[in-house]
Amino acid sequence: MPGDLKDGRIVVVGASLAGLRAAETLREEGFTGSLTVVGDEPHAPYDRPPLSKQVLLGQATAETTELPMRRDPDAEWRLGVRATGLDLLEKRVLLEDGESLPYDRVLIATGTRARPWPNKEEAALDGVFTLRSREDGAGLAERLAARPERVLVIGGGFTGSEIASACRELGIQVTVTERGPAPLVGALGGTLSKLAAVMQRNHGVDLRTGVTVTALNGNGAFTGAELSDGGRVDADVCVAALGAIRNVEWLAESGLAVGPRGIACDAGCRAFNMYGIVTDDVFVAGDVSRFPHPLFGYQMLSLEHWGNAVEQAEVAAHNMVNPGPLQRPHLAVPVFWSTQFGLNIKSVGVPTYSDHVVIAQGSLEARRLAMVYGYKGRVTAAVTVDMAKSLDYYRHLIETAAPFPPPPGAPDRAIAADVTIPSDVPDPSVLSHGPTVALTGHLPDRRLTVV
Ligand SMILES: Cc1cc2nc3c(=O)[nH]c(=O)nc-3n(C[C@H](O)[C@H](O)[C@H](O)COP(=O)(O)OP(=O)(O)OC[C@H]3O[C@@H](n4cnc5c(N)ncnc54)[C@H](O)[C@@H]3O)c2cc1C
Repeated sequence: MPGDLKDGRIVVVGASLAGLRAAETLREEGFTGSLTVVGDEPHAPYDRPPLSKQVLLGQATAETTELPMRRDPDAEWRLGVRATGLDLLEKRVLLEDGESLPYDRVLIATGTRARPWPNKEEAALDGVFTLRSREDGAGLAERLAARPERVLVIGGGFTGSEIASACRELGIQVTVTERGPAPLVGALGGTLSKLAAVMQRNHGVDLRTGVTVTALNGNGAFTGAELSDGGRVDADVCVAALGAIRNVEWLAESGLAVGPRGIACDAGCRAFNMYGIVTDDVFVAGDVSRFPHPLFGYQMLSLEHWGNAVEQAEVAAHNMVNPGPLQRPHLAVPVFWSTQFGLNIKSVGVPTYSDHVVIAQGSLEARRLAMVYGYKGRVTAAVTVDMAKSLDYYRHLIETAAPFPPPPGAPDRAIAADVTIPSDVPDPSVLSHGPTVALTGHLPDRRLTVV
């Protein structure tokens, strides 16, 4: 039986971080059958985090972000071709060129794309960008290198904030608009978002919160924007950093449990069909998935995290080629990092799954701290600012469902406040951008028809 699973035909759809790591792991796990990786981008798998950091700063070019391969996955690469459908009965991946690829097992790793500016004509103005692909990164870097007068960033999430940080580092004037009360509030809650706002303003960002952009102006080329408070911003570059959309449309007719927060799967990365029955041969990994996690009330987690894409791809690949009793759950604690305005922000756990926070080490004034998040008396997350080495300690507290507020014990517990305050995580719908972590529970967006 295990011998069968090590052979046969596997198709991976999505040739980026999760797709590549899965392909490598399949071979590491002894898969000797045929392996095909389908990707709609024309490039070999590349890394996205540098696109909003080193690439904008001119420290790397978008072409040099290719992901190093841990081993040759000995795969047939079908790049520049979009998958347009999945036939679960015939076990075939349909391609846009009319071809279809038969499979014994398939992995879906189609990730997300940037949410575009909603007005198509305005979005098409020269100088208006989103940031997700290598081309986006190269194009925006080129504009920044040409030293525009002012850049407008719409959305104060991680991507928008990192772009603003890069602009300031390059000495370029930048305005950030955010519909919520502060940047990063959707991901980090009230307290740290206030620090984020202070850091942006201290670094010279023209930060406008509680406003939306109502129109982009320009005649061919972008010249500025109108704001909901009646104000306007004159700028020559605009980046819409409005969060991500899951690449699931191609699965609309597949019968899988597909929705705006991704494809639902079990802890073993096997996709659910639309009736909630787990499939045997369809697996999911990376940003396009949503999966249950016991540490967070078994709610469905939907993440846009590099580390999750890697770990989930490895678990999915393992489970694709191993029989049930040897399969593993994907139970990794989410980890995320961001560098902006001279700060190194690291997050472990799910900060939005919280009711209270406490500053367990350091202080806001020192701009070096560890903030611990709790939900109903349990530690559920921690965010460190320039204190990354404490992260493992807090990860352990999360993994062991330690009581909140946490007991003393961190290695270099310095100034500790034991006053807990509300975590103040807003409803994501009040933000310009979507959350990068979402607990999605079960919110059926269409009625089940009679089976
Ligand atoms: C600018 C930027 C900065 C980031 N910074 C950080 C960071 O600092 N820290 C962090 O943890 N994470 C960061 N991330 C997130 C991280 O890059 C993602 O979590 C990661 O890329 C997810 O990998 P993935 O393989 O699941 O999906 P993706 O990287 O989205 O890859 C999916 C691939 O599938 C392709 N595809 C989609 N539909 C189809 C189809 N129908 N047929 C064929 N192919 C298809 C897509 O074109 C894409 O190539 C950042 C992301 C961006 C964009």
